[in-house]
Amino acid sequence: MWFTAAASGVLLGLTPVVYWLIEHRLRVELDRQLEIDWSLVEAHLELDGSGRIQWRKTSPATPNSPGYAATWFDVWSVGELSLRHWPVDGGPVAEAPNATADPFHSIRLEMGGSARALEKGARVGGREVTLRVFRDESGLHRTLREIAAGFGLGIPLAALLASFGGYLVAGWTLRPISAMTEQARRITSESLGQRLPNPNPHDELGQLATVFNQTLERLENSFESLRRFTADASHELRTPLTALRAIGEVALRNPSDAAALRETLGSMLEEAQRLSDLTDALLLLARFESGRWTLRFEAVELDGLVADVCECLGVLAADRHQTLEINAPMGLVVRADRVPLRQAVMNVLHNAIRHSPPGTRVTIRCFPRGRLAVIEIGDEGPGIAPEHRDRIFDRFYRVDPSRSRQDGGAGLGLAIAKLSIEQLGGGIELESELGKGSRFRISMPAESTQ
Ligand code: ADP
Repeated sequence: MWFTAAASGVLLGLTPVVYWLIEHRLRVELDRQLEIDWSLVEAHLELDGSGRIQWRKTSPATPNSPGYAATWFDVWSVGELSLRHWPVDGGPVAEAPNATADPFHSIRLEMGGSARALEKGARVGGREVTLRVFRDESGLHRTLREIAAGFGLGIPLAALLASFGGYLVAGWTLRPISAMTEQARRITSESLGQRLPNPNPHDELGQLATVFNQTLERLENSFESLRRFTADASHELRTPLTALRAIGEVALRNPSDAAALRETLGSMLEEAQRLSDLTDALLLLARFESGRWTLRFEAVELDGLVADVCECLGVLAADRHQTLEINAPMGLVVRADRVPLRQAVMNVLHNAIRHSPPGTRVTIRCFPRGRLAVIEIGDEGPGIAPEHRDRIFDRFYRVDPSRSRQDGGAGLGLAIAKLSIEQLGGGIELESELGKGSRFRISMPAESTQ
C-alpha cells in the first residue's frame, strides 16, 4: 500500500508538469508558424493604382498559391478594414484589432472554437497598417484534451499496476520470512537441533537466519549440558540416598543389637556427609554460573593462602604419611577474591593427597612467570593418561569412577577449581606423566612479585 501510494504520488506530481510542458511546446510551435505566415503575407502585400491594398499578383506566389489559399489574414488601415482573406467560412469574428493586446492572442471563431492570432504593425507601399494572421488552434486544444484524457485513464491504471506489482514483489520478498516463521514455530526445547531455512546467507534475511541459527546452536548446547548436568547430579545424589536407605533397612531387621545400630548410624552419617558435600559443591557451581556471586577482588598474598590451605589438609596428608613440601616466597601477591581462589587450591591439593599413594611427597610451589603468579601443586601419584587430561575438568568426570566413589569424590572438584580460577581471570593447566605423577599449575594475574 505504501508502495502504491508513493507511486501514485509521484505520478500525480509529475502529470501537471508534463501537461504544462506539452502545452507550452505546442503553443510555441503554433506561434512560430504564425510568425512565418505573417512574414509571408507581409511580403506579398502592395498598393494598387487607386491606393488600395491588394495581394501582389505578379509574384510567383499567385493568389492560388497554397500559402495564400490556406491563411486567414486581414489588414487594417487607420481603423478601417482594408483587406480580408477568409479562405474558409466561419473564420475569426470580425473585430477590429486591439492595439493594446498581446501580439499573440486567441480569438473566437464563428464556426466555433478559437484561433490564435498574431497582430503587428506593417508597412505596405509606405502606408502604416496593422496586419493580422490567424491559425485555427482547435487542433491544439483537441490534442491537449486527448493528453488529459490519457493521463486521467493512465494514472489510475498505472497505480493499479503498481499496487499489483508491489503486492507480488512484497509477497515474493517476504516468502522466506513466512517459511522462517513457520519453522521457528515448530522448534521447541525438544527439537532444538532444527535450523531455520537459509537459502541465501548473504542477504539481510539470510544474515538474520544465520544469527538465529547460531542462537539456536548455543541454546541447544546449553540445553544439552543442562540435561547432562541434571542427569549426572541426580545419579550422584541417588547413590548416597540408596545407600542410606539400604543401611537403614538392614539395621531395622535387627534393632536390638546396640553395637550394630551404632555402626549403622556412623555409616549413615558418612553418607549424609557425602550428600551434604555434594549439594554444597552443586550449589557453589550454580552460584558461580548464575553470576550471582559478587567477586570481591583484593590483594592476596600467596604464601599466606598456601599456608592456610596446607594447615587444613596437613592432617589428611599426615594420615597418609605423605610429606607436604611448601615453597612459597613472601611478597608474591595476586589480585583475586580470596574465597574462590582458596577453594580452587584446596580442591587441587586435596586431589593430589587423595590420589597419591601413602608415603609419597606432595609439593606446593609459588613463583612468578612474567606478569603472572603461579601456584604449582605436584604429586607422585599414578598420573593422568593423555586421553583423560582434557576431560578431568568436566563435571562429574572421574578417571576411575569406582575408586573415586570410595574416596568420596563426585568428579566436581576440578570443575569447581577451573570455574573459580577462570572467573578470577586466571587459568589452570595440567602436566602429567603416567606412573610418575601430576603437576597442576594455577596462574593468576600478579599484583606484585616483590
Ligand atoms: P573427584 O572429586 O572425583 O576427585 P575431580 O574433579 O577433583 O573429582 O577429579 C576428577 C578426576 O581426575 C578424579 O576422579 C581423578 O581420577 C582424577 N584426578 C584428579 N587429580 C588427580 C591427581 N592429582 N592424580 C591422579 N588423578 C587425579
